Amino acid sequence: SGRVVVVGGGLAGAKTVEALRERGFDGSVVLLGAERERPYERPPLSKGYLTGSDEREQAFVHAPEWYAAHDVDLRLAVTVTAIDRGSREVVDSDGTRTGYDHLVLATGSEPRRLDVPGGDLDGVVTLRTLADSDRLREQLARVAGSGGRVVVVGGGWIGLEVAAAARTAGCDVTVLVRDPAPLLAVLGERLAHAFADLHREHGVDLRTLVDVRALQPAQPGGTAVGAVELADGTRLDAALVVVGIGATPRSGLARDAGLAVGADGGIEVDSGLRSSDPHVLAVGDLAAVDHPFLGERVRVEHWDAALHHGATAAATILGVDEPYDRLPYFFTDQYDLGMEYTGWPGSQGYDEVVVRGDEAARELVAFWLRQGRVVAGMNVNVWDVVDDVQALIRSRAVVRPERLADPGVPLADL
Ligand code: FAD
Repeated sequence: SGRVVVVGGGLAGAKTVEALRERGFDGSVVLLGAERERPYERPPLSKGYLTGSDEREQAFVHAPEWYAAHDVDLRLAVTVTAIDRGSREVVDSDGTRTGYDHLVLATGSEPRRLDVPGGDLDGVVTLRTLADSDRLREQLARVAGSGGRVVVVGGGWIGLEVAAAARTAGCDVTVLVRDPAPLLAVLGERLAHAFADLHREHGVDLRTLVDVRALQPAQPGGTAVGAVELADGTRLDAALVVVGIGATPRSGLARDAGLAVGADGGIEVDSGLRSSDPHVLAVGDLAAVDHPFLGERVRVEHWDAALHHGATAAATILGVDEPYDRLPYFFTDQYDLGMEYTGWPGSQGYDEVVVRGDEAARELVAFWLRQGRVVAGMNVNVWDVVDDVQALIRSRAVVRPERLADPGVPLADL
């Protein structure tokens, strides 16, 4: 019993209230969300929803009537501005105070802005919300219609997905990447190039080792963007600039309330997702979890964590010890390529990459190894292998690279 207040109406918040009711929590449950929309999932916003192939309703976590039916007090368009840990209350922008026995922070993350002159011109956009995706879909159609160019700044997952959607919409697309290849930090050179090739084959003008120096208006003194200026002086015409340079956790509330927040802005939580104040938990993008299997703090900005943290948070609130022990998992879709990645090279990294399958056809499973043990795996246009890859990681078995590379050897037999 008692009252649980969840701040943040994204996937992690919605799954937390669902898990509380599913596990029989009979106290009051309040879900406060800053957006006007009820909780929805973000992956479609840069994929099927952006290209128009997915229906809007598919994105929502629950039907509108679900909340009342489960006695969840859903309050939308409410922004929490402070946590008063002394009185155990949250304060929202209207000054309303809501008391809690347990508080769950689920405020997610905020896209980074481009900090250069002209970075705030009209037509310089980021993608985080359903409203952003609605707007971007219209903008892509308009740019395609006028024969203009979309410049994507940043070659991370969202940037590349937007590039694919923009090509699908018929736009000319340039992607600007600081590193020698997109996704280099996550995938390493060999596999990052697979994504670079994919986009180039689809007609994307992918430029690496470039830095944006400024954005310029279309007309002198105007408010709409017209061009991107690179550090070497190159000027690229741009009817629309999509900035995909990462996100930062929205942990200001936690920091102001004196909770332990790490250098990357993640809220430090134990394996039961409790922060440095046991009455306050954190879930989703925000949570830097002390991971029992991986033996270090793990914070991922991925759908799978937002989907599953709620169950652990609910267990903790109900007094059940159920450590969060899932291996990180991520997926992406770009053009006709589907990919899943699981595992965590972590602070110690990897020393070997092994590929099984056909790299040229982009039908493969790649493995990252440290001292002969698989620490992460990625399947590209190959399906139903994530469980086997995770079992391999969890076994910590030393594997023979030539067997790992051989598609004839079942992963379960390694
Ligand atoms: P969020 O989804 O960010 O939700 C947080 C909510 O809290 C927001 O609605 C916000 O408005 C609200 N909020 C913030 N501050 C306050 C406050 N003070 N008061 C009240 N409410 C507040 N992951 C994958 O694994 N695969 C993918 O393919 C993939 N694609 C993605 C595509 C896009 C375009 C984006 C943006 C993300 C994608 N992700 C993907 C990442 C995934 O969506 C996130 O990890 C996930 O949304 C995190 O959920 P969350 O609930 O922690 O935070």
